[in-house]
Amino acid sequence: MIKQKKEDSVWKRRKQKINKSLLNEYDLIIIGGGITGAGAALDAASRGLSVLLLEKNDFASGTSSRSTKLIHGGLRYLKQLEFALIKETGRERSIIHHLAPHLVVPEKMLLPITETGEYGKILTSLGLGIYDYLAGVKGEDRKEMISAKKTQKLEPMLSVKGLNGSAVYSEYRTDDARLVLANILTAERYGATCLSYMEVKDFVLEDDKITSVVAKDIQSGESLTYHAKQVVSATGPWVEKVLGLVDESEHKRMLRTKGVHLVFPYDKLPVQQSIYFEVGDGRMIFAIPRGAVTYLGTTDTFYSKSIDKVKVSQKDVSYLLDAANNAFKKIKLKPEDIISSWAGLRSLAYEEGKDPSELSRKDEIHESESGLISIFGGKLTGYRKMAERLIDIVVERSSKKKVKKCSTEKIALTSNPFKDYKEVKNAISKLAQKLKGLPHAELRAKQLVHLYGQPALDMIDKVKKSEEKEIEEYILTQEIRHAVQHEHVYTLEDYIVRRSAMLYFDPMRLQEYKKHIVQSLGQELQWSEEQNTQALDRIKELLKEVSEF
Ligand code: FAD
Repeated sequence: MIKQKKEDSVWKRRKQKINKSLLNEYDLIIIGGGITGAGAALDAASRGLSVLLLEKNDFASGTSSRSTKLIHGGLRYLKQLEFALIKETGRERSIIHHLAPHLVVPEKMLLPITETGEYGKILTSLGLGIYDYLAGVKGEDRKEMISAKKTQKLEPMLSVKGLNGSAVYSEYRTDDARLVLANILTAERYGATCLSYMEVKDFVLEDDKITSVVAKDIQSGESLTYHAKQVVSATGPWVEKVLGLVDESEHKRMLRTKGVHLVFPYDKLPVQQSIYFEVGDGRMIFAIPRGAVTYLGTTDTFYSKSIDKVKVSQKDVSYLLDAANNAFKKIKLKPEDIISSWAGLRSLAYEEGKDPSELSRKDEIHESESGLISIFGGKLTGYRKMAERLIDIVVERSSKKKVKKCSTEKIALTSNPFKDYKEVKNAISKLAQKLKGLPHAELRAKQLVHLYGQPALDMIDKVKKSEEKEIEEYILTQEIRHAVQHEHVYTLEDYIVRRSAMLYFDPMRLQEYKKHIVQSLGQELQWSEEQNTQALDRIKELLKEVSEF
């Protein structure tokens, strides 16, 4: 009989990793584990630089788990005449889709055109034509203009008043937090060390230049000093705070705006496909169906309160509910219909006198006297190009010889990637077969494959159980085990918010299986009875926080 080696506890492994991380001097330390930091870590490590990434919370716990979750060219940039940005983000969409076809999936958008809207049919057609051309969109994916009658057929819920027709065009949908994780895990495969729950508190300078970074291990409380030749701050909304640790004379460069999304059970907002519709104030909002829910967003309002606790306000709720209730007939969404929500902050370059929606979404790179390179702004969609530009600067300043050129365009974002979207669909069917005892086997299989990729198939054996509850508990145990063992999960929220997105997109399952989830997580993370009880209370608190205003 082969005796299986008992795995070290997740805490022991973390401690060993931290001890090892202290032995090096790094070519580059990256502060911040959102998409910007994670993308930069992969770019730098794959060029042969030694890289340490420090994240104060969980990876993607900042803006990068609170976006609209679209990999999109950004139609709104057309209005701002930002052609270079459209071209870059437009092309990036299909590159990232090829690097992770299970995670960045094609999504058709319906864009209704109304008499009172800002653009008529001709201008929309022209605009989308330019959009497709700049983004290199080909074949069936090109935009299609549709009559009012056909639009009503495609989306019977749309208000007919003033409807002139619509356009259908192509974008991609993702899970932002998992895209960050995919970059972190891939960077680690290229030798980067990525540590979460490690907050940068200070810098050590010699001759006015940064030589070391002082970080606090949030879990042990220990203070650790790391030596680095170069330091990048990819801390999104916290960029100015981190810059303030080293250079207090820096003037204001950033504005923050808040964006909110609300989630409803699908039958409360049963759109047939994703819709991008205009609101009375001229802004555009998405309604996106996803599994058993539809989500709606986003708002865009100036924000100057706490960066660490960004909340959905009643005003945000009323704005989005009014928008949906005006755009769709036969629905009357109420605050009680909301089952989840999230709020995030955009970090945008300061421009005098502009409205939130008019501010450019371009990224900004700032080099301070101390040598700290700060990067902020940009989009989830453009992260790979942002990383390339950033690491080009790092390489230019580095004394290291023979550093490779950027090759992330060809680096798959999982160790065992699907070749294309067809393979993803086949995997979903295969997994649905294994789960056929479940009433919504296809939906659950889709969810699992989109979240975990190929490992979803290895994770789930042929399920021998027949009761729905037993099957679901078995899947959750497997998911949790995989997430803790392979995906840097250390807390309840790491799993229910950023690995499984259950709090946002499946709060009903979270409510129903909360005891089992806590039990499985508790087992993997070696929680005490008291910690288990605290986790159960926290789930109740979170479910309330995201749905009651
Ligand atoms: P963040 O994700 O905020 O990461 C910064 C990280 O730094 C955080 O994790 C934080 O904990 C960490 N940190 C801070 N201080 C420290 C410290 N002292 N030590 C260690 N770590 C620290 N883009 C798209 O392409 N598509 C979309 O659909 C889209 N929708 C959006 C909708 C909304 C409402 C918003 C707000 C943005 C949206 N964006 C979208 C933009 C996109 O989400 C952001 O550009 C991107 O997530 C920013 O990533 P980041 O890594 O720069 O910042």
